[in-house]
Amino acid sequence: MHPDQQPVLDKGTLYVVATPIGNLQDITLRALDTLRKVDLVAAEDTRNSARLLQHFGIAARMQALHEHNERSATELLIKQLSEGKSIALISDAGTPAISDPGAYLVNEVRRRGYRVCPIPGPSAVATALSASGDLNSHYLFYGFLPPKHSARSKVLEQLAPLPYTLVFYEAPHRVMETVKDLSDTFGQERNITFCRELTKLFETIHTCPLSQAEEWLEEDSNRLKGEFVLLVDGQIETTSSDKENEETRLLEILLAELPLKQAVKLAVEISGGKKNRLYDLALSMQK
Ligand code: SAM
Repeated sequence: MHPDQQPVLDKGTLYVVATPIGNLQDITLRALDTLRKVDLVAAEDTRNSARLLQHFGIAARMQALHEHNERSATELLIKQLSEGKSIALISDAGTPAISDPGAYLVNEVRRRGYRVCPIPGPSAVATALSASGDLNSHYLFYGFLPPKHSARSKVLEQLAPLPYTLVFYEAPHRVMETVKDLSDTFGQERNITFCRELTKLFETIHTCPLSQAEEWLEEDSNRLKGEFVLLVDGQIETTSSDKENEETRLLEILLAELPLKQAVKLAVEISGGKKNRLYDLALSMQK
């Protein structure tokens, strides 16, 4: 036993326990131990979680905690903590409170001075990133985009200039629409990585430019089934030398056809560059 290791179970503690996202063998030893020993398991869907616990031979007292009863269930659970009971919080799959219920409970438990202890394990976001080969070491986890097209496009416009890999969760019936909105807003060149059915039988990890993404989904109807994490490249920052090269080329074309003033005016409009800088550049090119 490592000297830093925590005791297996403390009274009056809320354990936030990650469970598998597909493959049941991904449950951790610590998760099993905790689920076996706690007084109560708070679960998003008690029927679904009962099956998981049954698989591991665990008989537990359960309390439902989902988005529609999170506040009232929280009061019941905090009462149990105040009586010295230990509780495990689980969701349907993966890590609770990550695009899943639980954050309100955890927040209240901490605010009222009770201990929260994480039992880490599977989460679709970490699983997808680890297998994507993404070389950008910075990413932004967005989770689910809004279901409606106009709200989704608005969010995508805000995300478009960010230089981080963008990570989305998406439901199978919306993946095609989302991919269309992604290419409309981000352009065709950025890469997307589809991470589908991770840890399950039909696990698929596929990277392609957004220009090919719809076609790839349409090629095989099975590709539109199951659970998805979508990773999209961040905006590639153009270096100042890339920018200068682009501006020089633009001015070359315009100066061949137009007087200097007009060429600069158009170059400013097209490139969004600074007028003075483009004027100086145009002058130096004419010399
Ligand atoms: N709390 C979970 C976690 O830690 O990843 C996420 C729960 S969220 C309600 C469910 C979404 O996670 C799915 O719609 C999908 O986007 C993603 N997801 C969950 N399991 C997955 C899997 N096996 N493969 C790909 N995506 C998965």
